[in-house]
Amino acid sequence: MSDKQLATVAVRKGIESDSQFNAVVPPLYLTTTYGFSQLGDVPTFDYSRSGNPTRNMLGEALAEMEGGAAGVVTNCGTSAINLLATALLGPDDLLIAPHDCYGGTYRLFNSRAEKGDFKVCFVDQTDPLALAEALALRPKLVWVETPSNPLLRIIDIAALCRQSAEAGALVAVDNTFLSPILQQPLALGADFVVHSTTKYINGHSDVLGGVLVSKDPEQGEQIAWWANCIGATGAPFDAYLTLRGLRTLAHRMRGHEENSLAILAFLQQQPLVGHIYHPSQPSHPGHDIALRQQKGFGAMLSFELAGSMEQLETFVRELRCFSLAESLGGTESLICHPASMTHRAMSDEAQQEAGLKPTLLRLSVGLEDPQDLIADLAQAFAKSAEVAV
Ligand SMILES: *Cc1c(COP(=O)(O)O)cnc(C)c1O
Repeated sequence: MSDKQLATVAVRKGIESDSQFNAVVPPLYLTTTYGFSQLGDVPTFDYSRSGNPTRNMLGEALAEMEGGAAGVVTNCGTSAINLLATALLGPDDLLIAPHDCYGGTYRLFNSRAEKGDFKVCFVDQTDPLALAEALALRPKLVWVETPSNPLLRIIDIAALCRQSAEAGALVAVDNTFLSPILQQPLALGADFVVHSTTKYINGHSDVLGGVLVSKDPEQGEQIAWWANCIGATGAPFDAYLTLRGLRTLAHRMRGHEENSLAILAFLQQQPLVGHIYHPSQPSHPGHDIALRQQKGFGAMLSFELAGSMEQLETFVRELRCFSLAESLGGTESLICHPASMTHRAMSDEAQQEAGLKPTLLRLSVGLEDPQDLIADLAQAFAKSAEVAV
């Protein structure tokens, strides 16, 4: 599907589908239960944990946009990940996951593996030898995150799917950082796509949510069965808000990206900026893969501050248009210090191994006027430069 078609699905899903009053915007169904017309006549919906018209509409829209057969909407991204692990993996099954995956994902896989629910092996998927060794162990599922957080490492999804298929493994891609507007893993050979819709898909930093999209309709049914069984499905009101956010996703992603490219150009001129991590840079590892498999570079950008920790503290404190906060994908710009925030659970050694320097900063570039964002960064750099080294 082209960008425009994706925008059309997002904007028009469920529009004018109300048969009672012909409401243009589909109504929100908060009801938990539904009437049976007579004994033995099971209605389309009977109880909202198993199915809800508002939530199903969001699931269908996201499945359509990812090119999948079915989408199950969950109460957060983490529960979508947990749902897949629960539905797919038994005690003898091996899961291969990236060594630098999202912290919550790492904790979930690791803790459940420690309980004996399944086996997990964390590998650097950009290392062909390590990956081949892991695949030789015949995993049931390979977990992928690309671009990764916060260093934006790129994994070749199509190549990894080919290798995984040869090893008899299914592939799931966490597509949170790019959304279906900028990357469609199922078309590249993946079996499942997961999103934390908390990020770009809802896009307004006010709803937690997740979705698990299956390429295969039978697997989609199994996943929906498990979602009802373990009670992982999302709230209808959350689905309503997320569908409202989804309407503007295509335009927001382009706006986020345009702003991030303007900021990137500015950062490249700053003496206090060291290494910049962004897939648009020809020197960025995997740049050529990103050009091939992504329809844009997204709006996440990391850089090292070339100065002392005091200078870094001053820089972050003086910013007015970037809130110091975790998470990403909202309309407002955020700045995060991974070492003390999102990745603080990792030991210093583990951070070092993952290439996370204490001077690393991560930006989630929002939709403010780019000139205001740049002026804000400029004044914070100036104050930071005044700090005695
Ligand atoms: C936020 C995030 C998650 C977890 O989603 P929640 O909605 O917070 O549970 C998973 N993967 C990535 C890449 C994320 O950014």
